[in-house]
Amino acid sequence: MQEEKMAQGTETPETPEVPGIPGTPETLEALESGEETSTVLTHDRELSCQNCGAPLGYMEGENVITCPYCGTATMLAGYDNIIKIDGHSMLPMLVDENGAISALITWLSKGFHRSKSYVGTARIASVKGLMLPYWIVKSSASTSWHGKKKRTKTTGTGDNKKTRTWWEPVSGRFSEDFTWPEYARENPDEFWGIGNIQPGKKSVFPDWGKFWLKFGGSKQSSNRNMLDGQIPFDIEAVRNAGMANDLVNGQITQERAEANARGNIKEHQAKKAESKADVLSDVDTTVNVNKVDLVYVPMWEMQYSIDGKKYSALVDGAKKEVLGAEYPVSKRAKITIFDIVLGIPAIIAGVLGFSGNGIPAAKIAMFVLAALMLAYSLKKGMGSRN
Ligand SMILES: [Zn+2]
Repeated sequence: MQEEKMAQGTETPETPEVPGIPGTPETLEALESGEETSTVLTHDRELSCQNCGAPLGYMEGENVITCPYCGTATMLAGYDNIIKIDGHSMLPMLVDENGAISALITWLSKGFHRSKSYVGTARIASVKGLMLPYWIVKSSASTSWHGKKKRTKTTGTGDNKKTRTWWEPVSGRFSEDFTWPEYARENPDEFWGIGNIQPGKKSVFPDWGKFWLKFGGSKQSSNRNMLDGQIPFDIEAVRNAGMANDLVNGQITQERAEANARGNIKEHQAKKAESKADVLSDVDTTVNVNKVDLVYVPMWEMQYSIDGKKYSALVDGAKKEVLGAEYPVSKRAKITIFDIVLGIPAIIAGVLGFSGNGIPAAKIAMFVLAALMLAYSLKKGMGSRN
């Protein structure tokens, strides 16, 4: 009691520091950097590899740690629960830096919305090889749904014409197998696009600039076999590919990844069911998980620019394939879309204006639309070939 009073008594404005909390930070920035250094220092115990005994380096919050010497993976599933992960595999890095760049350039030169001229104009700003940890949840999902579909039927002709509308109950079930990827780290924004490889997630992002007729050009990730080409984790292969220093530890435990995958698969199936009825009254999905593997997936994260604008892309390191990308929509695609959108009403106006006893206003409309098409094509087409 006496000591406490003494301590309180010494608290004067001249000594602002609270005992035990040296240098009370004044700004948020100082607070954040202070926290950072303390978290790195305070991971509470030393861990050694259960296979080779080497000390394991890890950061606070990392629960899935790969030994840099022998490649054995260890998971901290709880304070007293340290598990050696047996289902630890990888997809081999088979694409080198040049291969990744050429995959992107080829991709940019193909398709309606992109352009061959990007082969010459794209500037690669950075290319980064990554071996990223995913929990691949091998599972099958079975979904049953109930809903209603709107039906209409027209009977009779002329004044007796009647249209009847009614709701018909519909139902069905469908199932799908997945090798569902759950990124094993908390922040999917650490590297561009890595959270978008789940089936149904948007992975291709067109940049339309100021153009307002945004037709197509984006893409969703398909349900691909994430375990295709899977081999047991081989630290030697990782080292040979020059990736050993870029090996990232996981932060999300197997149990959490499995729970996340179940939730995401249910959401994915529910979205699919939505297209099957006009009104959905209930959707029920059962997810059976067969296996959960820790798989290191090789990827190339790229930054590039076209006409001074910056874009990102992600290329599969096991297959020469673009997994996701941002890209500018080509001028040629915009002109074509513009001409189609104006061309269809122009043709209709032309037919109305010139057939039989033509409507004069339709004739004028056709000429106006045709003139707009020509003007836009000339304006956009000049000075640029893409
Ligand atoms: Zn080891």
